[in-house]
Amino acid sequence: MKAITFHQHGTIDVLKYEDVPDPTGNIVIDVQYCGVNHLDIWTRQGIAGKKIRLPHICGCDIVGTVRKSASGFEAGERVMVYPGLSCGQCESCRAGRENQCSKFAILGGMSDYDGGYAQQVSVPAANLVRLNLESKTAATLAVSYLTAWNMLSTNGAKAGKSVLVYGAASGVGMATIQLAKAMGLSVITTAAGKDKSAFGKKLGADYVIDRLSQDIAAEVTKLTDGHGVDIVIDHVGAATWQTSIACCRIGGRMAVCGMTSGNDATVPVRMFYSKQITMTGALLGSKKQLLELIDFVSENRIRPVIDSVFELKDTGQAQTKMEQGLHAGKILLSCG
Ligand SMILES: [Zn+2]
Repeated sequence: MKAITFHQHGTIDVLKYEDVPDPTGNIVIDVQYCGVNHLDIWTRQGIAGKKIRLPHICGCDIVGTVRKSASGFEAGERVMVYPGLSCGQCESCRAGRENQCSKFAILGGMSDYDGGYAQQVSVPAANLVRLNLESKTAATLAVSYLTAWNMLSTNGAKAGKSVLVYGAASGVGMATIQLAKAMGLSVITTAAGKDKSAFGKKLGADYVIDRLSQDIAAEVTKLTDGHGVDIVIDHVGAATWQTSIACCRIGGRMAVCGMTSGNDATVPVRMFYSKQITMTGALLGSKKQLLELIDFVSENRIRPVIDSVFELKDTGQAQTKMEQGLHAGKILLSCG
């Protein structure tokens, strides 16, 4: 089969479109679409001190059809993949919080398991979810929407509360705006420039702060009558932690799931404790949360915006577009 691999970590040019052996296993999926996520870029770049088996195939947001009947699934059945792999036996796994398992790994992520940047992928039957959604929508859910769902539910999101999320046009940004609005929260978001601000408005955000011309903390203070928001969703990292703490209300919550701007943040410690902020980290979510999310997305007719669909062979262009921040909404690969 054809796949996008890398044999060493590095910049975009380490990606290779090449023939690799077909995957074997109980369940093999013919991949239809695979979503592109920042996680794929971090995996390609590598994390210092973390070794994975090479060559590696990225891609965690997988939708396709089952190749051969097995484990209760029929050949040709449409499925999506929950990308979390875990031991299945520890206390966290038994409690349905497998993303807190000490053996937790993400299929296609920074792990020894190949993902969906390929024509086929082998997946444990327990990770399959039967599809009742349109394929392109489904290919957006298992990473950014699941992570946003996890952060919102863990931090007590409900009608009447307020949330700040950065980057309306990013995967987690768009997911948070759409999910939080459907839950009845008041949503403040940020965007760079006119077009992306308009995109945030179109998604349903109540307020969009243009970070190129406005000060985020000052605007949030104004919009919340000086109180700050109940929840801040931070996937930006080093560049925004100070702002996030400044934007939380007293007793507020800060949920962190990424660091696109860098890993080393400076924190105003006094402001953090005197505001009595609770900070939570999120890595993906559980399969149970994915099933809840799928129901919520269907019931509320949430339609993630697809920025663009690239052919598998053009994955380099897709990742470049994401790295340069030129997208508004999800980028998908068409792998069939
Ligand atoms: Zn476990």
